Formats: sequence, structure tokens, C-alpha cells
Amino acid sequence: MRFRSTRDERLTVGFSEGLEQGLAPDGGLYVPQQWPQLSLGELTAAGRQGLAPLAERLIGPFAAGDVLEGALGPICAEAFNFPAPLVPLEGDRLGVLELFHGPTAAFKDFGARFLSACLTRLRAGQPRPLTILVATSGDTGGAVAAAFHGRPGIEVVVLFPKGLVSPTQQQQLTCWGGNVHSFAVRGTFDDCQRMVKQAFLDERLRAARTLSSANSINLGRLLPQASYYAATSLALAGAGGEPVSFIIPSGNLGNALACIWARRLGLPIGEVVLAHNANRTVPDFLADGQWQPRPSVATLASAMDVGNPSNMERLRALYPQLEELRMAVSACSIEDEAIRARIVSDFRRLGRIWCPHTAVAAEAYARLPEARRRAGRWVLVGTAHPAKFREIIEPLIGQTVPVPPTLAALFARSSQYREIDADLAALRVALAGEAA
Ligand SMILES: *Cc1c(COP(=O)(O)O)cnc(C)c1O
Repeated sequence: MRFRSTRDERLTVGFSEGLEQGLAPDGGLYVPQQWPQLSLGELTAAGRQGLAPLAERLIGPFAAGDVLEGALGPICAEAFNFPAPLVPLEGDRLGVLELFHGPTAAFKDFGARFLSACLTRLRAGQPRPLTILVATSGDTGGAVAAAFHGRPGIEVVVLFPKGLVSPTQQQQLTCWGGNVHSFAVRGTFDDCQRMVKQAFLDERLRAARTLSSANSINLGRLLPQASYYAATSLALAGAGGEPVSFIIPSGNLGNALACIWARRLGLPIGEVVLAHNANRTVPDFLADGQWQPRPSVATLASAMDVGNPSNMERLRALYPQLEELRMAVSACSIEDEAIRARIVSDFRRLGRIWCPHTAVAAEAYARLPEARRRAGRWVLVGTAHPAKFREIIEPLIGQTVPVPPTLAALFARSSQYREIDADLAALRVALAGEAA
């Protein structure tokens, strides 16, 4: 299987090459050249054995002919070693898919751990380490740092916007040391993302280091994320039953894109609702057809504060016509005020504590027309554990949020990071000071 750049169909790579490069050299994103035919019966059977066997089957065709093909079983077993339970909320018509039981308590652990398991194998025996550059609005950096910490042959450089991530998130970005270098950038998440993109195009940096990305633009993060959508839809619908609709808290659209790819692969998935916070670039585009990326605004659901979602390029490659795209997805934007109100009301009504991102999905569901809610079988995607956002949630619900043991262990570590300006020159200087 080959993958092509969204910007040039002649630019193609295999599975491992795509994982190592992250971004295509022309600045495009890699997408599958064709969509494999999957047997839903076989996938369902694999799903009964667990998420790892299902992931192995689902990703298998994409790695066909690649050096990693034979290692996919152990890779998936290593990456998918924690559960993704579907918890019912209202009988079997509404549930929440909890994706936050991994080491850093957010869904990004799935993709980061898969990518780490792959890259560690690919880099074994290479003389020069791989430097993974990651821009983060909160959870990516923590998940990537946790997944790659202590891995031989790999350095991780985390860029996060100074003062714009929660204290808990910051601790997860800066508690590693060793092969993980954390930089607080005096700017926004968009600045961090721009710096990473510029670094990839910078001759000097590329000469000094072998660079890779672990952002949600990396295929090695996207493909594994399709697994939990496949598992959930097959468990609920079987092969051929009533399709399952998902409401996905969205920022860079990596998680949502994995769901849309899973549907494209034939899984029984119905509607996909992109639930955004006050960063309304995507909902506005679907409404008026004008693609107008803009600076991000800070919200309570900070891991979704993205003004120029990278994966839109992949979504538009799949649905080039606006009308097709409107049939494929819908989107909404939820303001902070409504996030707060939803956290309070669902705590009182259901006894559930949402993180602010998951609350965006819960509010998006509540705003769907009743007929649409009743017609479908809905799953809210729970993207982070509420304990990561204690500072926001505890005052709202008036009680403490229990901290899972994995998070408690991270909180106990000491923190270290450097502060840098929001430009490429500052990044070059900072990197020169770190081991390569
Ligand atoms: C990253 C993140 C999101 C947004 O996911 P994308 O793939 O960027 O759309 C939502 N919720 C949480 C908790 C996240 O960490």
C-alpha cells in the first residue's frame, strides 16, 4: 500500500516512510492511495478478542508489503494495552466512548503509543537519532512524551504555548527529562504549529537533525485511532446492523478524520458530528463555504483551540465538493458558557463528570434536533479524563475529581522546561543547545 500527498498525487511513500516523515516534503499530508477492502466479519471476530487484534487486522492492509508488516501484532499489543470502554448513558441509544484510560488520560495515548512502537522498531540500529518535533495545545505533547520517553534512538522536542495550557497539562509536558526536551513558546498554539512546519522546511535544521513529526498529521497516529471507531461500531451494530453515529470533540480533526476513514473503509458508522469550541473555522466553512483559517482563541477546552485545523486538508481531499462534505459531516461550535453549564447539568442529572472537551460533545448532542437524536444510535467521544482539568471542573461541581493512579504518578515527578520566542530562529538556537 502506498500513500500520496494531498498536494501532489505523484508524491508517494510506503507505510514506514510516511510514519518517519510525518509531513510530505511538499507540505501536504499523506492519504491512502486506495481504500482496501476489509472483511467486516473477520474484523468483528478479531474485535471479540480485544482492541489490539482488531487494530492489527484494520491496519494490516495499510502496512502490506512494508518492513513493519510482520511486526504489526506485537506493535498493536504494545500500543493498545488499555481499554476503550463504551459506557451507556441512556439505554442502548446513547453512550460515551471513554478514550482516556491510557498513561496520560487522553485519547492521544492510542496514536502516540502506536507511533512510538513503530518508530522504535524502525530506528533500531540507526547511527543518528530521530528528533520528533511536536507542537501541542495541551494533550499531544504529554501523550507523545510519555510514549517516547526512554526510547533509544529518539529525541522528543515539545513546543507548547506558554500560559495557555492547564497546570495539569503543563506538568505532563514537562515532567520527563532524559530524551524529552520541553519548550514554553511565547505565543499561541498556532505559533507552535507554524514553527514545527517551518522547521521541516528549514535546510539548516534538516542538515543537523533527522526530523519527524508526531502531530496528528502523522499517519501513525491517525490509522490506529480508526480502531476504536471500528471496535465500537462493530460491537454495537455488527456487520450490517444499524449504523452508529459519533459526536467528536474536535480541534485539528485528527480524531474525527480517523472516524471518517473508518466509515470510508466500510464500518457501520452513520453521522459524524464535529463538535468544536469557540474556534469556529470548521463550522463556519460548512455553513458558508469560505475557508478562513484564523488565530485560535483560548477556551476551556484548550486542547481544541485550533484556528487552522491541519487535517482539514485530508478531509477536503476525501470530499472535494462542499456539498459532498456537507453530506459527510456536520459541525457545531460551543461557547465556554455552555461548556460550563453542561458540566454542571450532566453532573447533576447523570452523575457524570465530563472534561471540558467531552462536555462540548455532550452539549452538541443536546442541541441536535430531537428527531435526529431519536433516529440514531449515538456515541459521545470522551477524549480526556476530567482529572486533567480539575482546576476548571472542581469549582463547577463543588467536589474533588478523583485522580487515576497513572496521572497521580505523573504529578509526583519534577518539572523542567525552557522558555523561547515564537520564531524559528529561537527554536534553532534552543535545539543547538540540546543533544542530537
Ligand atoms: C487533542 C484533543 C482533542 C481534539 O482532537 P483533534 O484530533 O485535534 O481534533 C479533543 N479533546 C482532547 C482532550 C484532546 O486532547
